[in-house]
Amino acid sequence: MVRSIDVSDLVERTRAGDRRAVARLISFVENDAPQLREITAALVPLSGRAHVIGLTGSPGVGKSTSTSALVTGFRARGQRVGVIAVDPSSPFSGGALLGDRVRMQEHSGDDGVFIRSMASRGHLGGLAAATAATLRVLDAAGCDIVLIETVGVGQAEVDIASLADTTLVLLAPGMGDGIQAAKAGILEIADIFVVNKADRDGAEQTTRDLRHMQAHNPRARTAGWRPPIVKTIASRKEGLDRLIEAIDSHQVWMTESGELPRRRCDRAAAEIEAIALSQVSRRFAHLHGDVALATAAENVVAGATDPYSAADRLVAALSG
Ligand code: GDP
Repeated sequence: MVRSIDVSDLVERTRAGDRRAVARLISFVENDAPQLREITAALVPLSGRAHVIGLTGSPGVGKSTSTSALVTGFRARGQRVGVIAVDPSSPFSGGALLGDRVRMQEHSGDDGVFIRSMASRGHLGGLAAATAATLRVLDAAGCDIVLIETVGVGQAEVDIASLADTTLVLLAPGMGDGIQAAKAGILEIADIFVVNKADRDGAEQTTRDLRHMQAHNPRARTAGWRPPIVKTIASRKEGLDRLIEAIDSHQVWMTESGELPRRRCDRAAAEIEAIALSQVSRRFAHLHGDVALATAAENVVAGATDPYSAADRLVAALSG
């Protein structure tokens, strides 16, 4: 067990950008440690400064390469950068770089870059809540930018995108699924579209398809901001300056339009909800265990009660 004094020391060292303290705090998040409540309370006043950028798209589209290229771009401006690589389908988690994150190794000796991989396993409040908590640690550690990279897989992608101030949706020509994915709802989460692999045939066509879709189906994430389409060749770091310009413009627009505090409130609401629901679920398990549930089930099977009434009794006991 870590004593309370250690928590404040860890938080203080995190604030100074001490890498070991940052790693330690993130491991508390990952293990859902009891100290997390105290840590979070200490971190909240220190966070809220970082610009959070989400990158999403199908596997192979170039997220990892683009993330690395963006890190280079932000570092060139002297900014401190955090990276959270989220893979909802992977059982692996932790500080070590995953095999497929090998391109991030070009930043591994850089003291101004913090990289963390996260997976779905074992997060009681859900992956989005754990990502939000990790984000808070990196924010408090003085990261100006936090990049959250996530594989484009359905609801997890949307949940993670809701944590970002600016969401980049990556597409690549010839991937076949790009526009289908777009139809499936990426229009609503994209603040900026990135057509990566612009060195390949079909990049123009992908861009035209996107423009067409925007024109005929203007369900932008937010009124007043039309997501720009930026072409990049991430593997050669081409187009990255324009992408960073688009990100900067979006940040300015978010601040001036009042959208930023709205999104931050959405983020906080999602986190509160996840914590509250996991507390209820834990209390349910603690209070009723298997026995009360089994008894209720027997009563329902025996026709002595119905499942709604049985559930009502179990829920009522939670607040007792
Ligand atoms: P992720 O799965 O979305 O993270 O994609 P990766 O970043 O791992 O990239 C998948 C593959 O595409 C790798 O072999 C990259 O080197 C390659 N790649 C990334 N960006 C480009 C690009 O702009 N042009 C080309 N031709 N290849 C790229």
